[in-house]
Amino acid sequence: MQILDGRALSLKIKNKAKEDIKILREKGITPGLAVVIIGDDPASHTYVRMKEKACEEVGIYSILHKMPADISQDKIIETIEMMNKNPNIDGILIQLPLPSHIDTRKILQTVIAAKDVDGFHPFNVGKLSLKLDTFTPCTPLGVMRLLEEYKIDPKGLDTCIVGASDIVGKPMMNLLLNADATVDICHIHTKSLKEHTKRADLLIVGVGKPDLITEDMVKDGAIIIDIGINRLESGKLIGDVSYEEVAPKCSFITPVPGGVGPMTIAMLLENTIKATRNRL
Ligand code: NAD
Repeated sequence: MQILDGRALSLKIKNKAKEDIKILREKGITPGLAVVIIGDDPASHTYVRMKEKACEEVGIYSILHKMPADISQDKIIETIEMMNKNPNIDGILIQLPLPSHIDTRKILQTVIAAKDVDGFHPFNVGKLSLKLDTFTPCTPLGVMRLLEEYKIDPKGLDTCIVGASDIVGKPMMNLLLNADATVDICHIHTKSLKEHTKRADLLIVGVGKPDLITEDMVKDGAIIIDIGINRLESGKLIGDVSYEEVAPKCSFITPVPGGVGPMTIAMLLENTIKATRNRL
């Protein structure tokens, strides 16, 4: 069994980003990222701090718009529209989840496609499904880069994705399909999850339920990507896969933490640089 080390690869990607940004800065161009966070969900604030820190490390200028949980939808839209027009901002990221009185789809569609570094705008979602160059959502893109680093070609593999959200499972499905894999996608209403997961050469899980995937649900020698992040009461972070029992059966597996998480942030940096280059 080999560990797919997202932390190590993310460091390589960050170093490359640093070099790319140095060249841009020498030409007087600084990539800029605006982050919008609404409310006081502690996990969201932690993720935003990690993203800000990564930007600082590589030389991306980042600004944070913190808004109270009871802010009106119109005020959020107004702020995004201001950033859409700001020439110093190349990328706009809306930290999810948003408070329940806010229409998340409407907010994500307000970010113009050219600054949509998270790849959530319908225009970019459509382009991804057509295999056109676009902003690809950072988490599934990070998974693809991790597979590539370890020379795992999804072509022809039986893959199973557990979790079908707009930001994780569905773009993951498009990326795998674009890479010529056979894709099976499961969700909360899937009748017998095990029947699907057990067939997979490559099993990708992004649900948010500790120990959802146990040893008996995994094929011998499978490649396992655990996207889930669950914080236990003790403060420990774990994924959706019962790591200790599943790992010995796999050929490759991502740890949590240190697998997909750091890759997500690395892909955000790359997407921001891409937005800057597109502007130029
Ligand atoms: P979500 O709640 O939007 O979607 C969850 C998906 O899982 C849904 O499609 C749902 O139908 C499915 N699901 C729920 N229970 C299930 C079950 N018992 N069996 C099969 N499917 C089930 O969540 P999300 O935003 O897609 O995030 C999923 C997980 O990935 C969370 O743990 C989140 O923290 C994590 N995540 C990690 C990263 C990262 O960088 N590593 C990034 C984004 C999300």
